[in-house]
Amino acid sequence: MSDATPITRLAPSPTGDLHLGNARTFLLNWAIARHLGWRIVLRHEDLDASRVSADACRGIEESLAWLGLDWDGPARRQSTDLEPYRSAMRTLAAAGTVFRSDLSRREIREAVNAPHGGELVFPASLRPDDRDDWRFDESGGGHRFAMRSGTESIRDELAGTHDFDPAREGGDPILWTRDGRPSYQLAVVVDDLTDGVTDVFRGDDLLSSSARQLRLRTALGRPDPPRWWHVPLLFDESGRRLAKRDGDHGLAALRDSGVPADRVVGLLLHLSGILEQPAEIPTKEAPGLIDVESLRTLCGSERVSPRRVTPGHLSWLTD
Ligand code: GLU
Repeated sequence: MSDATPITRLAPSPTGDLHLGNARTFLLNWAIARHLGWRIVLRHEDLDASRVSADACRGIEESLAWLGLDWDGPARRQSTDLEPYRSAMRTLAAAGTVFRSDLSRREIREAVNAPHGGELVFPASLRPDDRDDWRFDESGGGHRFAMRSGTESIRDELAGTHDFDPAREGGDPILWTRDGRPSYQLAVVVDDLTDGVTDVFRGDDLLSSSARQLRLRTALGRPDPPRWWHVPLLFDESGRRLAKRDGDHGLAALRDSGVPADRVVGLLLHLSGILEQPAEIPTKEAPGLIDVESLRTLCGSERVSPRRVTPGHLSWLTD
């Protein structure tokens, strides 16, 4: 492949089996990537050691392979090498944008008198006065990024253009946790830059994170944004978004109960408006059924009316 080949990534968090919602996002990402000739890297976001189970990465690879999704080159686990994240912290600290803070969520909430629920904003008023705290202390402790105020415009290929003010919406994000590891926001930016990712395709719960990530890229000297593709999530009958708690609809459970992968693919394409009726579809046919226009149509219609996975859909899978 030439250097100009676009690169996307599948970035599962190995905290459990993939549910149908994750599976749909990965299927659409894979299918459009294969349709358009992008390279696909697989990256396990396994830094949150407390929630990552030892076999989960292998389990996720098995589930993806069972579904018929492949990737180019070896899979990578973020936890195997923390040096790139440390190096990024040094760069940010040298620019004076990183400060030490070990305040807990409760302490922040109390300091700003914030109610429970909703996103907790770390305000500029809680930044340390002491210049000595504006550095990356490699021996440990929590660190945050001083987010400047102002609007960031995210031009998404599917969701349209959205303006965010990350300082107002989230405040200063954690970059390094109190227990000594890179945060999601730092790691995803460093990895997307390291892997040369040109196309970030993921669930639209992360749309607002794009603004934070763009700020971090800029602070690392790489202000050029990737193309963003945020797809709607799937919901259950009662309108809750699918989550790992719905483990019985996980891919491993479906596979173990003898459901053919082609049936899962057909249901996911039906739920995406690409097939009128659920049908068994070999995964390798999915790239021929999808294009950018069909993704835009799906996103437009699901923004108005989110897609719910009903008991009828599930019994079609298993009957
Ligand atoms: N690991 C995240 C997830 O499983 C995805 C993060 C990303 O795509 O930036 O939802």
